[in-house]
Amino acid sequence: MKVYINGEHVDSADAKISVFDHGLLYGDGVFEGIRIYESCVFKLDEHLERLEMSAKALMLKIPLSRSELSEAVCETCRQNGLVDGYVRLVVTRGIGDLGLSPKLCETPQVIIIADKIQLYPDSYYTDGMKIITVATWRNNPAALPPMIKSLNYLNNIMAKMDAQNAGFVEALMLNDRGCVAECTGDNVFIYFKGVIYTTPTSAGNLKGITREVAFNIAEAMGIPLKEAELTRYDLWNAEECFLTGTAAEVVPVTEIDGREIGDGKPGATTLRFIEDFRKKVSIEGTML
Ligand code: PMP
Repeated sequence: MKVYINGEHVDSADAKISVFDHGLLYGDGVFEGIRIYESCVFKLDEHLERLEMSAKALMLKIPLSRSELSEAVCETCRQNGLVDGYVRLVVTRGIGDLGLSPKLCETPQVIIIADKIQLYPDSYYTDGMKIITVATWRNNPAALPPMIKSLNYLNNIMAKMDAQNAGFVEALMLNDRGCVAECTGDNVFIYFKGVIYTTPTSAGNLKGITREVAFNIAEAMGIPLKEAELTRYDLWNAEECFLTGTAAEVVPVTEIDGREIGDGKPGATTLRFIEDFRKKVSIEGTML
């Protein structure tokens, strides 16, 4: 496998960065996970825009323009002969000293890894997933805006571990007001009485690109979609629930905190979303 590091494609065994990189020492950096479907990059521009916005918030200057980044992503996929897969695009603060200050880090490092992916087994998409609310709250947006897709994922990792310790694969995270924020790597949607609801970013969730795609699907289907503060009670009583994310795509949730959602099977609307999402990814995207 060839990995892109700062303009060069090197063998994965030689793809190395400094132990003084603040991406490693402090999680100081930003990233995107991007999907490749049938030799097309899905929502590339949207991912690059979010990367730039995350970087802007961290005062991190990405050394490549949007079009240079775009070409670097596509070229890395081509070099690896990737038709379907997942790209991890990372920009680290770069090499500094052992202090926190980013001022000494002169050159941000750009890394692109393109690989195959299957996050969840097929059965999750046909039978649904069971999730559990965990004790770890999502970061307070005033402390660390969850809209920044940074290299520091400890908040989400702690929640993932909470779920795994309880025997579940995914965690529902609440915010410090006790409202639903998101899962560890996915946005949350419910369907109730003809309306789809998802949490607003003020609830502390990432502004997911797949979340945006779900807005488009709902509009095309003629189903109203509203952003609303959601509680666990709202989720337990939903007729349907699903999660969205670049890696997870659209995945049904059929049990939350031991409560069956709807009749305990993926709902009809969710299944239509999955179908429409799969159609969309095969016709939209930037050709490699
Ligand atoms: N929330 C978090 C915390 C995430 O890391 C992600 C991305 N995996 C998402 C939501 C979903 O965002 P997207 O649809 O852009 O992948």
